[in-house]
Amino acid sequence: MDVKYLHSFDPWNFPLCTCPPKYSIDPYTGCEHRCIYCYITSYIRDPWRVRPKKDFLKYLKRDLKHAPKMPVSMSNSSDPYPKMEKKLLLTHGTLELLKRYRFPVLLLTKSDLVIQDAFLLSTMQSVVSITITTMDENVAKKLEPFAPSPKKRLKAIEELKEWKIKVAVRVDPIIPGINSDTEKLRELIETLSSLDVDQIISSVYKAKPDNFKRVCGVFKKECEYLRYLYYEKGTVIRGNRYAPMKVRMEILKTLRNLATRQNIPFSVCREGLPLNTAKTCDASHLISKNP
Ligand code: SF4
Repeated sequence: MDVKYLHSFDPWNFPLCTCPPKYSIDPYTGCEHRCIYCYITSYIRDPWRVRPKKDFLKYLKRDLKHAPKMPVSMSNSSDPYPKMEKKLLLTHGTLELLKRYRFPVLLLTKSDLVIQDAFLLSTMQSVVSITITTMDENVAKKLEPFAPSPKKRLKAIEELKEWKIKVAVRVDPIIPGINSDTEKLRELIETLSSLDVDQIISSVYKAKPDNFKRVCGVFKKECEYLRYLYYEKGTVIRGNRYAPMKVRMEILKTLRNLATRQNIPFSVCREGLPLNTAKTCDASHLISKNP
């Protein structure tokens, strides 16, 4: 069977996706962070068990040799820095290949392990996007039980910036009533501003039956309100339940205004709301033109 690991980013023709053309790769299948809002559980078998893709570097190298140049997004259905990356260095090897064949990279992670590649990232065309949904360690532990703490992620941002790497932060997703408190968001945006982040990207949680069950299982008190918001008042777009537009607009406008006050460009992801002040929704325009 012919294996192909370099694919065009395909949001399944999702009508609200505004991403510029790019490739999407995942050196690993599955993700150990177990975020309760995660959507990969609806399409990946055994989603919390991380496994490296077979002969990933061999086939990626073959694909890169002949592919037209476009940014490469890594990873959209996993985290490129599971614990086993420390030993396997599969993401590291991928970055080396992307550098060698001159493909810009848009690296998405929740892990401070990204620091082990800071030097490499600083010598290639790259932008790093780190997700922080809250600075409240207790809430983070409930939302993303096995991911590195927000504190560690903030430290990683600080170090990446010291390497002069462009960093976007995904405050994403915001779940109404759980991590949507304006004062806490203000605190987060001010902290990100002090770290000189280059863009903030956000969206409001979209419910699917399996992730909604997990969210309700953890946030029992908030469940009734969320059920009302999503299942009575919300809308369905391609199988995703959206909170009502008024609620999404209010939360994201607040965040946009907080970011604007700190001079940080802002964008939304798959919202269809006119709130972007950044040039691209996914921060790909920030890819540095280093070497
Ligand atoms: S980091 Fe992303 S892929 Fe991994 S569990 Fe969390 S939401 Fe899912």
